[in-house]
Amino acid sequence: MALKDVIGQESAVKILESAILNHKVASAYLFQGYSGIGKYFTALNFAKALNCTRRPARKGFRAGEENGAGADACDDCPSCGRIEAGIHPDVAIIRPEKGVIKIEEIRKLEETLSLCSYEGGYKAAIVDDAHLMNDKAANAFLKCLEEPPAGSVIVLVSSNPERLPVTIRSRCLALAFKPLSAGLMESLLKDRIKDPEKRHALIGLSMGRPGLVIEKGGKGGDILKKRQEFVKSLLQMLAGSRGNPSWSDKEEIEEFMDGLELCLRDMLVLRTTGKEELLLNPALPEKVKSLGKAASEEVIIDCYRGIAGIKNSLVYNPNKSILWNYTAGLLGRLANPGDPYGEGKSRN
Ligand SMILES: [Zn+2]
Repeated sequence: MALKDVIGQESAVKILESAILNHKVASAYLFQGYSGIGKYFTALNFAKALNCTRRPARKGFRAGEENGAGADACDDCPSCGRIEAGIHPDVAIIRPEKGVIKIEEIRKLEETLSLCSYEGGYKAAIVDDAHLMNDKAANAFLKCLEEPPAGSVIVLVSSNPERLPVTIRSRCLALAFKPLSAGLMESLLKDRIKDPEKRHALIGLSMGRPGLVIEKGGKGGDILKKRQEFVKSLLQMLAGSRGNPSWSDKEEIEEFMDGLELCLRDMLVLRTTGKEELLLNPALPEKVKSLGKAASEEVIIDCYRGIAGIKNSLVYNPNKSILWNYTAGLLGRLANPGDPYGEGKSRN
């Protein structure tokens, strides 16, 4: 795989390729956006492109011509192979363990970046789910960002960038990754999932996030079940059901809130354009569609902001029942915009 295989993220890829071609690679990037939309995949292929020893020629140049190398990896040379396999000595890949990135991991990253490059290319570090760094790790990491070793590049990957300290975010070049349109999802999945009915259902339920479908063995894995649970919880909330969440951990709450944000995005699209073909989730429940058409833009945007606030608050491990009721209250405003408590009746 290479940067050319990244689908639906043209603007981010264009910025990265232009940085490579113009030798203006930033010392730190922040790839931000929902989970499952290709941020990590892009980071890995960016590291491959930076270190590839046989980058194919760009348009108008012959192979081997001076300054003729393109910006993408060949996906064939030993360097590309080692990065793909996660064993390249100049590329550190940091991931959370049991939901947290500790200072020991950041020390490993420092070591990789501070040593001379083994293979003469870039030294790169990819920090997946970077918002899961604990305070000690974040402080140590900040020092790396303040004095980046020459010829090194760090890519932070995060679906919750607001949870990273501002001091870290402000030192990174942020690139936004977006959910994919239903049309792109269809072209991406049509060879993997032959049954059109199942494919259509998965496209609807994954809401523009191909990683949710592809990562689990390429057949949709348990996403159907998960997304059906999401829709069930959402409808319960919209019906005013209080305080009995089925969320088992913080990760599930986060997933629910991500799904909710995407639903609100689709509601806003319906409200402003009325065009169902522009929805990320063509299988949006009728109840959600009708709320989207009826609620004011202001209320939908307010709800969206509220959900973003909830996601930030998850760092404090809030009580699940209180969180459920609070979220249900926010959504209640979609049906009853004049009711600050979302209970469908006045409090006085
Ligand atoms: Zn290569």
